[in-house]
Amino acid sequence: MEEVDAVVIGAGVIGLAVGRALALAGREVMVLESENGIGTGTSSRNSEVIHAGIYYPAGSLKARLCVQGKALLYAYCAERGVGHQRLGKLIVATSPSQVKALDGIIAKAGANGVQDLQKLTSAQARALEPALVCEAALLSPSTGVVDSHGLMLSLQGDLENAGGLLALVSPVQHIGLKQGTATHPIRVTTQDGTELACKVLVNAAGLSAVALAGRMDGLDKSGLPQAHCAKGNYFTLAVKAPFSRLIYPVPEKAGLGVHLTLDLGGQAKFGPDVQWVSDPADLQVDPRRGDAFYAEVRRYWPGLPDGALQPGYAGMRPKISGPDEAAADFMIQGPADHGVPGLVNLLGIESPGLTSSLAIAAHVNHLLQENV
Ligand SMILES: Cc1cc2nc3c(=O)[nH]c(=O)nc-3n(C[C@H](O)[C@H](O)[C@H](O)COP(=O)(O)OP(=O)(O)OC[C@H]3O[C@@H](n4cnc5c(N)ncnc54)[C@H](O)[C@@H]3O)c2cc1C
Repeated sequence: MEEVDAVVIGAGVIGLAVGRALALAGREVMVLESENGIGTGTSSRNSEVIHAGIYYPAGSLKARLCVQGKALLYAYCAERGVGHQRLGKLIVATSPSQVKALDGIIAKAGANGVQDLQKLTSAQARALEPALVCEAALLSPSTGVVDSHGLMLSLQGDLENAGGLLALVSPVQHIGLKQGTATHPIRVTTQDGTELACKVLVNAAGLSAVALAGRMDGLDKSGLPQAHCAKGNYFTLAVKAPFSRLIYPVPEKAGLGVHLTLDLGGQAKFGPDVQWVSDPADLQVDPRRGDAFYAEVRRYWPGLPDGALQPGYAGMRPKISGPDEAAADFMIQGPADHGVPGLVNLLGIESPGLTSSLAIAAHVNHLLQENV
């Protein structure tokens, strides 16, 4: 059995960021990915928004890692030439009750250390975005967009420059936590029968992470959450968007509401909505969902022309809370949680996972330094 210091399962943005951080910390790292390319999962099916860290409960991992991750990501993208733009976003209130909610959002953001929100009157918002209709708005200047694939390629480059290896088409099938060698106690077996013994194992398998943890031989399963899937559908805009910032409604349900985001080329898309499904591979966009998009978008952009929305793509949120439960925090289970030295399970890494990726990686590296 070959020995390697650290194995990371999954080459999405989280696995690549973690692999990079461990390699830069001097570990010998192998990242195992089941598909034949990096970032083919949730990491390439999202809004590509660098979130400010506004909505998450104070003190939660989502709040802390998003705010830290945002700063790290802007700095990293600037240093490495990864495409990004600090476009800013408007959170728009379209009813009097939503206007009242804006103060709560400012307070929540402030508790997370996000102090730059500016409250705008309807006229001030329209001065920035003339096509917009709202009663009032918040401007978040530190929200932006990033080229997620460019980011992942850069992380992969760093991993490999630091001596790390990426193995594609290497689905991990079995994990025995006490079945390795005397010095490298964790045994990882891939589908083709390759066996690796490691000291450190990071499960960054995204939508499969809970199931994979559930199959680990030697892990106490009582601390594992139940996995759920919430699909987010996007519709693209066939005409040029009359907006230069991201436009979000005041969030009311499970997601952040059907919002408008722009990619680095200025192409607009709307979404994601929230559709609870049982099959994580169910990524088709049903064109009939477009009707609800028109209604939601026209609350803040009445000028949306008929026929302008086209089914785009869908992403799957790796949820660890169900439809009727409060949104769960990221669940990062390290040795102090499950008692297995060297093991970190990354569960429920939904939004703002992309924004938080570099901070999650630093957090995982820290957990492992303390324990292995
Ligand atoms: C609709 C939607 C919109 C979002 N928008 C944003 C946003 O705007 N901003 C933001 O910050 N975040 C956003 N997110 C969240 C963000 O996309 C995710 O948090 C992030 O991409 C998760 O990355 P990951 O590496 O954990 O998962 P993934 O990208 O899914 O990567 C997991 C990888 O593990 C591999 N894998 C699985 N099982 C195995 C196995 N047994 N062996 C080997 N490999 C395996 C998979 O093939 C996959 O490549 C959004 C998410 C969704 C769903």
